[in-house]
Amino acid sequence: MRYFTLNRYLKQKFGEKVSKVAVDVGLTCPNRDGLKGWGGCIYCDNSSFVFVNGLTIEEQISNRIKKLSEKGIHKYLLYFQSYSNTYCSDEQFYKMISSSLIDDRIVGIHIGTRPDVVSDEKLKFLSDLNDKYEIFMEYGLQSSHNKTLELINRGHSYEEFVDTVYRTKSYGLKITVHLILGLPGEDYGMMMETVQKISRLPIDSVKFHHLHILKNTKIEKLFIDGAFELISEDEYIKTLADSLTLLKEDVIISRLVGDAPEELLIAPDWPISKHHFLNRFNNYMQSNNLFQGMNYR
Ligand code: SF4
Repeated sequence: MRYFTLNRYLKQKFGEKVSKVAVDVGLTCPNRDGLKGWGGCIYCDNSSFVFVNGLTIEEQISNRIKKLSEKGIHKYLLYFQSYSNTYCSDEQFYKMISSSLIDDRIVGIHIGTRPDVVSDEKLKFLSDLNDKYEIFMEYGLQSSHNKTLELINRGHSYEEFVDTVYRTKSYGLKITVHLILGLPGEDYGMMMETVQKISRLPIDSVKFHHLHILKNTKIEKLFIDGAFELISEDEYIKTLADSLTLLKEDVIISRLVGDAPEELLIAPDWPISKHHFLNRFNNYMQSNNLFQGMNYR
């Protein structure tokens, strides 16, 4: 394999397949309710996240674990994915995490959030669990360019992200960074600059996404008005492949392309499937003899 996938990492670390268990704890986002901004990031429609509404945290986890164990999978990662999973009081956060650790076969916790709503107290709490569970903080960054972050209404700066990366590391936790390739106003050079910049930070994993245009988002109107063009699948493959060459070879590539529910998706019309995309991407890496880390410095 020419790059270091999450599956490979988990197999090496835990000796067997580990599956994610998505948990929806019903939190919201400070970029929607006015604390950091109103209306959210221009591309965001949280209904495209996985919701397991109506069930308690314990029910969500035990139901999913039951299904996975019937399929022969016996190790699990809790994935707090929807909205900003540290956007609550410290006490609420402690309760939420503690009540989710209901099964000895849970080996890790991944917490998706924004870099500007992570208190030292929460990081300290997680660091105390770090001996028993592998903990990844997943920070949405999307771009290192403040101009782009303003345009997409992220409500935080690149500098705030960097500060949170170093604070997180000081508690011994692992970090996944989310990036979007193909944001409005960004060319190939800008995207490479973002990857180059994060490659010099103490991060452990990256999730790459392509830009989706979802129904009822602010970006939908910009797109329909022709304010920008979407990156093509070929351009995305080249940009992604070149991005991997800039990342250290032990940085885990946790995601190569985004996905969105068909009923919400306006554009683009690629990939036709994840499998098809991965075949095309792997062929591109191979035919151009590219490897993760080959241009890292
Ligand atoms: S920070 Fe995340 S949940 Fe909040 S508006 Fe942006 S994409 Fe949506």
